Amino acid sequence: MKGKCLAIVVPCYNEEEVFETTNEVLLGVLNDLIGKGKITEDSYILYVNDGSKDSTWQHIKNAYEKDVHVHGLSFAGNRGHQNALFAGLMEAKKTADMTISIDADLQDDVAVIEEMVDKYLEGCDIVYGVRSKRTTDTFFKRFTAESFYKVMNMMGAKSVYNHADFRLMSKRSLDELSLYGETHLFLRGIVPNLGFQTAIVTYERKERMAGESKYPLKKMIAFAFDGITSFSVKPLTMILFMGFCAIMVAFIAVIYSLVRHFGGHTVPGWTSLFVSIWFLGGVQLFAIGIVGQYVGKAFIEAKKRPRYYVEEVLDHSEDRTD
Ligand code: UDP
Ligand code: MG
Repeated sequence: MKGKCLAIVVPCYNEEEVFETTNEVLLGVLNDLIGKGKITEDSYILYVNDGSKDSTWQHIKNAYEKDVHVHGLSFAGNRGHQNALFAGLMEAKKTADMTISIDADLQDDVAVIEEMVDKYLEGCDIVYGVRSKRTTDTFFKRFTAESFYKVMNMMGAKSVYNHADFRLMSKRSLDELSLYGETHLFLRGIVPNLGFQTAIVTYERKERMAGESKYPLKKMIAFAFDGITSFSVKPLTMILFMGFCAIMVAFIAVIYSLVRHFGGHTVPGWTSLFVSIWFLGGVQLFAIGIVGQYVGKAFIEAKKRPRYYVEEVLDHSEDRTD
């Protein structure tokens, strides 16, 4: 068979308003690529129902009955976008050579799916969809989303700027991803860690077709916090650094207050209070910071992340026929 098998993975949470249109558009893209011989006939769309409270699952089941290219998976309850996506990717990697994850509201441009597949066929394992502009988002959404990336990067959870979860991943990159055993998933942070040859395709992000964003500010803050705390121990190191700085200030304060004291410019008790506040505060922060370093190590170890993933083995024994 020509081409490679593609699975488009779509997490859906209460998406009944957009489902039919989304399904139609994605099937169009899929059939087009099949027609061009870039992907195999058995390529499919996998909808992951993340415990929707509306009729989303019913819509998925109907679509499944109607079209062989539609597959579905349903959670018993709402487990969040990242878990739905991960489950879909893990399911898809059993049969597909590559997967593309995309949101159900199709805010990401399906026109670049072909470009992603081309990059895969050229040898890339991971292709990131990156937004070129955010003109259609409200100022507030744009501002919060862009700050999100900046804070995340500053805090040590590196991610690709302006890339959400619209990306192509090859089967072997998913094999590596499956070795990450952590419960708090932050895929945007993990994927750049995997290595492999990567590429970027850019597109303009559109407005949501219908329905409301399932990522209100509250969820976004929780997501960012989750990303930082499940990815880096930098906040703990910052406490240690703050403690160190406070102790330094305490030393300067000793000199300063002694000068003031002997100069007779102080009221009784000021010198000792001034110095001890800085000194004790500094020592406490420093001590918490040190404890934090141990907690951080335990935290990193508890994740049991894979240390490496062998991409390729060169072995002459396979050449021999005997
Ligand atoms: N989603 C999900 N579970 C959730 C919240 C969202 O599976 O608990 C899905 C949702 O159906 C959509 C995608 O995640 O396909 C992104 O959500 P949304 O478009 O609402 O986020 P935004 O684009 O506003 O950041
Ligand atoms: Mg959206």
